[in-house]
Amino acid sequence: MSKKLDQQIFHEISAVADRLQMETYVIGGYVRDLYLKRPSKDIDIVTIGSGIELANQVAKSLKPRPRVSVFKNFGTAMLKYKDMEIEFVGARKESYNRSSRKPIVEDGTLEDDQNRRDFTINALALSLNQANFGALLDPFDGVADLERETIKTPLDPDITFSDDPLRILRAIRFATQLNFEIEATTLQSIAKNKDRIKIVSAERIIDELNKIMMAPKPSKGWKLLEESGLLQIIFPELQEMKGVERIQGVGHKDNFYHTLEVLDRIVPNTDNLWLRWSALLHDIAKPATKKFIDGQGWTFHAHNFVGVKMIPKIFRRMKLPLNEKMKYVQKMVQLHMRPIVLSEDVVSDSAVRRLLFEAGDDIDDLMTLCEADITSKNAEKVKRYMKNFKVVREKLQEIEEKDAVRNFEPPVDGELIMKAFDLTPCREVGMIKDAIKDAILDGEIHNNYEEAFAFMMNKAKELGLSQKN
Ligand code: ATP
Repeated sequence: MSKKLDQQIFHEISAVADRLQMETYVIGGYVRDLYLKRPSKDIDIVTIGSGIELANQVAKSLKPRPRVSVFKNFGTAMLKYKDMEIEFVGARKESYNRSSRKPIVEDGTLEDDQNRRDFTINALALSLNQANFGALLDPFDGVADLERETIKTPLDPDITFSDDPLRILRAIRFATQLNFEIEATTLQSIAKNKDRIKIVSAERIIDELNKIMMAPKPSKGWKLLEESGLLQIIFPELQEMKGVERIQGVGHKDNFYHTLEVLDRIVPNTDNLWLRWSALLHDIAKPATKKFIDGQGWTFHAHNFVGVKMIPKIFRRMKLPLNEKMKYVQKMVQLHMRPIVLSEDVVSDSAVRRLLFEAGDDIDDLMTLCEADITSKNAEKVKRYMKNFKVVREKLQEIEEKDAVRNFEPPVDGELIMKAFDLTPCREVGMIKDAIKDAILDGEIHNNYEEAFAFMMNKAKELGLSQKN
């Protein structure tokens, strides 16, 4: 193993630790990732003694000398060296009370420190002292669990999870990121302790959910959340989507699994977290809008608009950002059916212009979402849709090149209309403005000042307005 620690920084730390006669280890995620061959820039160093003292002495020995950030309350110190972030902490023992995730902390041994870790694979330590440089300390068989691709708590899972229920979500997050399985007793304990999640802050929960969203196959995490009963607590709207109702022998698709399929399908095509959230939320209002209509079957009328309305409440509760990121997700949800409708019809220029106008620069993302939304098992159908989408994409490009309607501002604005007819803001101004916009989008006039001005004059005449002299 010592070969794996051949970075110069470990030898620097080793020399200082020996000089100070401090037992020192690299521990946790960095060691796990070494075994998994996942490059990592975050290094956690644990020492028997003062982490702050060790950090200061290590910094002194490095050139150029890095600045040390000390977090006195936590007894930790951090320094940045090259592209690495190195955190130093004294080994500690933790004990918890039931009402808080915040432990009572006291100095401890390496073993105490490994006992407080969340999973066997996160409790690995490699010695940095010269006498046994690189030796592995693996009291819970974490390396074997890495090989078995298993997430398991080092102690009784009921204690580990109840002490700090954030670990419940971390288990599911690591299983999703690494594509590992959660060991049976650990999984049972997650379900048993699910209500403890209520003492975890929304900010910590969303951090974990966002990591699940950025994993190669996020559906794995969402399914684990559902199966363990956590989803009902942290995201009831998504839970609501699960299940199939039947009336007169007619069922609809299970919108929970359909949504997860769409999410997994969009992953290879985007690293944009918000497009991934849009995929998860695109049908969120289907349960609320579901209706069985004789002769028509199941309908989800206006589920896109109702979805747009549900999003602020969901974002506020989950502490997702209430800014332009949310607006983007709302736009995706609102428009998610439009390209499909377009592709089913003869694609008219004016429908394409309108879509371009409404989606603006997000048009490519919208197409990516729509393509992911085609999850039919019928290969012929999928092929037909994909072919039609290709036509829509070509048409979008053609119209954009010709008319530049993406992000367009009508060449005659409200200000000009008011000035021309000596008006204060009123209904007529809005009517003329909308008429100009529609005329451009419908291709009646071109997107330029002269034609828009002439159109305005005609429209005003129809409304009985007279021009200012
Ligand atoms: P990632 O960087 O992907 O989040 P990581 O394992 O490095 O993975 P950190 O949150 O940086 O995650 O934690 C570093 C180490 O600290 C973990 O490997 C684990 O040993 C320990 N740890 C972190 N959070 C907890 C927790 N809630 N309970 C117990 N141990 C934890």
